[in-house]
Amino acid sequence: MEVQVPDIGDFDEVGVIEVLVKAGDTVKVEQSLITVESDKASMEIPSSAAGVVKEIKVKLGDKVAKGSVILSLESEGATAPAPAPAAPAPVPAAAAPVQAPAAATYSGNADQAFDLVVLGGGPGGYSAAFRAADLGLKVALVERYATLGGVCLNVGCIPSKALLHVAAVMDEVNHMADLGVKFGEPEVDIDKLRAHKNKVTGKLTGGLAAMAKMRKVTVLRGVGSLLDAQHLKVEATEGAVGQAKTGAVQTVAFKRLIIAAGSQAVRLPFLPDDPRIVDSTGALEMQVEAEKMLIVGGGIIGLEMGTVYSTLGSRLDVVEMLPTLMTGADRDLVKVWQKFNAYRFDNIMLNTKTVGAEAKPDGIWVTFEGEGAPKEPQRYDLVLQAVGRTPNGKKIGAENAGVVVTDRGFIPVDVQMRTNVPSVFAIGDIVGQPMLAHKAVHEGHVAAEVIAGELLGDEKLKKSQFDARVIPSVAYTDPEVAWVGITEDEAKAKGIKITKGLFPWTASGRAIANGRDEGFTKLLFDEESHRIIGGGIVGTHAGNMIGEIALAIEMGADAVDIGKTIHPHPTLGESLGMAAEVAHGSCTDVPPVRKK
Ligand code: FAD
Repeated sequence: MEVQVPDIGDFDEVGVIEVLVKAGDTVKVEQSLITVESDKASMEIPSSAAGVVKEIKVKLGDKVAKGSVILSLESEGATAPAPAPAAPAPVPAAAAPVQAPAAATYSGNADQAFDLVVLGGGPGGYSAAFRAADLGLKVALVERYATLGGVCLNVGCIPSKALLHVAAVMDEVNHMADLGVKFGEPEVDIDKLRAHKNKVTGKLTGGLAAMAKMRKVTVLRGVGSLLDAQHLKVEATEGAVGQAKTGAVQTVAFKRLIIAAGSQAVRLPFLPDDPRIVDSTGALEMQVEAEKMLIVGGGIIGLEMGTVYSTLGSRLDVVEMLPTLMTGADRDLVKVWQKFNAYRFDNIMLNTKTVGAEAKPDGIWVTFEGEGAPKEPQRYDLVLQAVGRTPNGKKIGAENAGVVVTDRGFIPVDVQMRTNVPSVFAIGDIVGQPMLAHKAVHEGHVAAEVIAGELLGDEKLKKSQFDARVIPSVAYTDPEVAWVGITEDEAKAKGIKITKGLFPWTASGRAIANGRDEGFTKLLFDEESHRIIGGGIVGTHAGNMIGEIALAIEMGADAVDIGKTIHPHPTLGESLGMAAEVAHGSCTDVPPVRKK
């Protein structure tokens, strides 16, 4: 039998961003088959029947709509009941057609009551709590760890950048020898470096605690779990690190709840428990001196951490199941990064899987399978697992409130960040890809505004929506790789006709002066409307510049708008104006276009 896309609400067509099963898999009724994404939300499409997958009929990047065939199944007979409609929401919901669990009812007393309780103090959670407090709500923020800031400030964006900055300076100094200035060999004091990283995160998380106080946001330290759609249990925790429970428990009542409980690193089940096998949090601790390091997973997080370790002296191998590193970015951008970084790697294993590992006294011996797999197990001093992050949706008692959580732990929401339960909202990593701090923050603001609008009767706030056209991505490697909107590879795959403006940094005065002209800036315009729909930059500081392309896309700018905007000279940012001029045919900093 054929399994089709059911009615997915208000969307004509949505893109397939993940295929979660393969031919030969046995699937159950309601098991997620694919993830689709519109410009407003992502959702998983469950199977309407049980059976063995015969053939997958969709691939990444395909557009699907109601009735599109996802796969064919050798049926086992069981067919799902018609999906339950989502609970009424003010905006057409992109909630996944998954059966909502029956909600519990808590009949005990509450120790404290708030307009809004936010579960999770990461970038999404604290931004939502602070915005709601600024708008006049009585707010509590529940966080299990000692400091606010979540993954991003404590063990993610910020500590990784503190280390990447040090690595970038070390690499830059190395390169100075070519320019006539020679420094001595660096001496690394790893304890001091770790202390510096901790000081950076401490400064920021301390600042958050102070800002929570200034806003009169009540911070409750403990593990929160839902009792029903109006009550949260908080089990108090203590200690500078970890989440050791003290035994004290309190119940807080809320008019609205925002779930911002984030995600955690995926652990490969077949890897042994050994201090030499770490995730990104372990890698940031820099406890293992690694002559030879394996990065499992060639995504941004793995490659950023690899850059740090390599600069500090490790030789790198990387293994990636997909055919490319840094999936998601255009190949031409990645190629520049790869060429510049080739010296760091002994072996880049693509289309290859890690299938086993053995912890021995002399190292971790890892076995691979696939196109790039060495025949014999390989020895490593350190193995970094960076194969993605999984949402915490199944660990917070969401079912007690009747909140839908997908098989993989994501919580579907509508464009106002509301779940299927009217009093419960969700934001950040827990609602889906891309798992990025800047997305979480914006979603947090939307949820806070909608809630304040409802509770304070403000019609304008009530209409707040997450309607960003694009969300930029950045790999803070050296050089940096940044992209936003449609990529060139995606445009090709989807048959979208584009006009491209590419400005090579070999023509940028500033890049040449910096001795770093390996990069380029690329802008993509829709051939019909002439509006900018995407762009990518590879080069130093690319991440600091990508915001301008995002703004141009949001504003519907064309090549003339960008090209005629005067950018200061000589800057790397100037390359954006030049790339627009290239697309327009008016750039005088590159060789003339040959007349046809
Ligand atoms: P989180 O930051 O995960 O916060 C969730 C919070 O909820 C946590 O503090 C957690 O302790 C708390 N919590 C969970 N369950 C409970 C519970 N039951 N009770 C109480 N508290 C609970 N993103 C970028 O945009 N740029 C980057 O450069 C970047 N670099 C990264 C580097 C690394 C190494 C990693 C791992 C991630 C990086 N990210 C980056 C991703 C970014 O950290 C996340 O997207 C972001 O932190 C998500 O924010 P959030 O608020 O959704 O959740």
